[in-house]
Amino acid sequence: MVPAAMWLALIGLILIGPVFGYAADATPRAAPLRPGGPPPVVALAPLPGRKIGGVDCVRISDLASRLGLQVSVRDRGKRASFTGPVGRTELERDAREATIDGLRVFLGDPVVEAGGHLYVSRIDAERCLTPLLRPGLGVKVPTAPRIVVLDPGHGGKDNGTSAHEKTYALDVARRAKKLLEDSGVRVVLTRDSDVFLDLPQRAAIANANRADLFVSIHFNALPRDTKTSGVEVFTFAPQFQRSTNSWSPRESDDTEREAAPVNRHDHWSAVLAHAVHRRFVVDLKTFDRGKKLAHWGVLRALSCPGVLIECGFLTSESESRKIGTVAYRQKLAEALAAGVRDYGITIEGPTRRPTYAPPDTRAP
Ligand SMILES: [Zn+2]
Repeated sequence: MVPAAMWLALIGLILIGPVFGYAADATPRAAPLRPGGPPPVVALAPLPGRKIGGVDCVRISDLASRLGLQVSVRDRGKRASFTGPVGRTELERDAREATIDGLRVFLGDPVVEAGGHLYVSRIDAERCLTPLLRPGLGVKVPTAPRIVVLDPGHGGKDNGTSAHEKTYALDVARRAKKLLEDSGVRVVLTRDSDVFLDLPQRAAIANANRADLFVSIHFNALPRDTKTSGVEVFTFAPQFQRSTNSWSPRESDDTEREAAPVNRHDHWSAVLAHAVHRRFVVDLKTFDRGKKLAHWGVLRALSCPGVLIECGFLTSESESRKIGTVAYRQKLAEALAAGVRDYGITIEGPTRRPTYAPPDTRAP
């Protein structure tokens, strides 16, 4: 057993470290081993809040101090940034799109202003910003992933967006499986041939294998659009939040009142999504279409953190040409495997972060 004093010291480091501004790691190193099991959960009192437009909101300055971050507000209260060990977070009044350390992240609700202060919804504070800015704070920390389930989308009678989607998804999954197995992780594919599986079956395979995490692999398409390209990473929308796409014109609110089983893992799904997202954007230099929320049926019943990744557009002339090559699909697999490894590093040392080059956020 680890002495209680050591855990107290660790918790102190988590909570106090950013106040003293320890520097982000400059050199890669192996994931630290965590002796004696997970640290105890630090119980957090709910942040004070107020209802704005029917949504329970918290002041961003309260959230920043909870997370140990500096906050600055500019443009007459229109924009705010958090700065701290995980880089810079940009928030904008009336916008759902945030930027976290150079990555586009869609909140479930817009940032709002009331009484001269900026607010985010409590759900975004607790299930998006806290996991991304202070992973592990206030929640049970799982063990680093030992069993990973990769889910090549579609299959059999279900081609997906085109006849290529199911084939490429399986190819990327097989390549990522090999890479992860080489680093000592057990990997299960939901399908390893061109067979049809319905969505609940895929989550059931993950649950039956006691998966530590689940990644569903897809490719995107937009009819009559040969230009749009880039990557999107999805987590299942938290209970009482809409999907990102439901905010588009002519779409309607698709909020679900019931919690899905995977909602128990919202915190770590967000951390996993961010890790995979970063690798796709940084390592592949692909256009960043953001981390989004959706009610994907394949994620709903998971009893572990899960994400769905849209690796690129098969309708994009330039991107589909790349995706059609073995070399690029290998790179997709490498980014996925690296993202999963980064997630493990984050779990092993919640005060640490994997090292990577800063993302290039310019559009292609
Ligand atoms: Zn698909």
